[in-house]
Amino acid sequence: MNIPRIELRAVGKSFAGSSGSITALEDVSFGVMPDEFVTVIGPSGSGKSTLLNMCAGLVEPDLGEILIDGQALPRRAGALGYMPQRDLLFPWRSVLDNAVLSLEIQGVSKAEARERARGMLVVFGLDGFEKEYPEALSGGMRQRAALLRTWLTGRQTLLLDEPFGALDAITRRNLQDWLLRVWSEHRRTILFITHDVEEAVYLSDRVLVMSARPGRVKGEIPVTLPRPRRRAMVADSEFVKLEAELLAEMGEG
Ligand code: ADP
Ligand code: MG
Repeated sequence: MNIPRIELRAVGKSFAGSSGSITALEDVSFGVMPDEFVTVIGPSGSGKSTLLNMCAGLVEPDLGEILIDGQALPRRAGALGYMPQRDLLFPWRSVLDNAVLSLEIQGVSKAEARERARGMLVVFGLDGFEKEYPEALSGGMRQRAALLRTWLTGRQTLLLDEPFGALDAITRRNLQDWLLRVWSEHRRTILFITHDVEEAVYLSDRVLVMSARPGRVKGEIPVTLPRPRRRAMVADSEFVKLEAELLAEMGEG
């Protein structure tokens, strides 16, 4: 039997605004299966970050429930690896010391945490840069360092909120290919947020489309492209067709 890593059942969430309550999410239901790469795409303000905050246990839903590995964990903060939108590295900590932060919070000793981080530096393309401070790194390296911090939580399921959103197009594509390689070699389950159609199709097994506020899942597109994904695929007719389907789904009211 296959239990979803994450399952949302009729989840709703409102916030108090200056002129009354704002419904951020309404009746959101979906699951993410083990080893799956699922992307949520939607316009700004459609509740994508709120969705991840709730999966991570930082915000509680008003309605519905969220199951992690089949269980409604009342205190699930820390059950998943979470890289929030605009995750920042501390400027006064080296790459290595930024990377080990999540382990330190978990109570792992500094020596042990550094040892584990060192073992992943090559995979994350940071070998030789571990003593550098964030200001000395390129944007792509900073994002990889922040991803390494999330990775080192050791959690099977990772929540990534627009991790490549602020990068230039070429760096972004390099990191997409890198992430797919790491994901296929070290299987994890990923729930990924983006507002970029090409990125969603290129990375995912499945794309969920959110409506504008209140955020609902208004469509789901299975990405039938073979793996491993290759950059040249973006020009294939199947890829272009999926992008068009996704755009149409996003465009409909
Ligand atoms: P997205 O990530 O898709 O851009 P968000 O989840 O950040 O969307 O926000 C969805 C809506 O919920 C927005 O209208 C936002 O202003 C509101 N919102 C999010 N978090 C809070 C909060 N802590 N307090 C009040 N309103 C919030
Ligand atoms: Mg957001």
